[in-house]
Amino acid sequence: EMSEEEKIAYVFKVVVIGDSAVGKTQLLSRFAKNEFCLDSKSTIGVEFQTRTVSISSKLVKAQIWDTAGQERYRAVTSAYYRGALGAMLVYDVTKRQSFDHVARWVDELRAHADASIVIMLIGNKADLLDSRAVPAEDAVEFAETENLFFFETSALSGENVEPAFLKLLQEIYDVVS
Ligand code: GDP
Repeated sequence: EMSEEEKIAYVFKVVVIGDSAVGKTQLLSRFAKNEFCLDSKSTIGVEFQTRTVSISSKLVKAQIWDTAGQERYRAVTSAYYRGALGAMLVYDVTKRQSFDHVARWVDELRAHADASIVIMLIGNKADLLDSRAVPAEDAVEFAETENLFFFETSALSGENVEPAFLKLLQEIYDVVS
């Protein structure tokens, strides 16, 4: 009997990027552990979390990297992007500035990551209905122009988190297989 480790067909490195406080760490723990941690930043220093899922009947281990706060100091280095097959580019639907910075993050990816990297644009905190500052249509338009996939999510409620990660992993699979 093979162990789960032996059955894993692929390991995909995915990086999570975007402005500070948009919910990157919470999205990651929602997907990796199905947790939302009220005491945020408890994962500081942790470099990545993993979750193994089935994609096209193959076991794929997603190794998802968190900047652990480094984005505050613009210190996200090329080592962070090295080998990444996918990126979750996160903004906060209640913070216009975090969406205005998305183009800069795309430039950063195009400069440091592999040309074939699959990018998923994520508008997070979609649960905050009363404080929305970014219409979904703006993001849809940007995503179409830049060839990105797009989902709105809530790491708090969990809404769309699983579909967004699974779509990214499926698209990576289609690129590498
Ligand atoms: P990071 O700096 O991008 O890693 O952001 P964090 O994951 O630390 O989240 C920043 C803050 O936003 C924390 O107070 C979280 O509790 C909160 N937060 C994260 N995701 C959501 C969400 O989907 N909805 C709401 N309402 N708050 C969220």
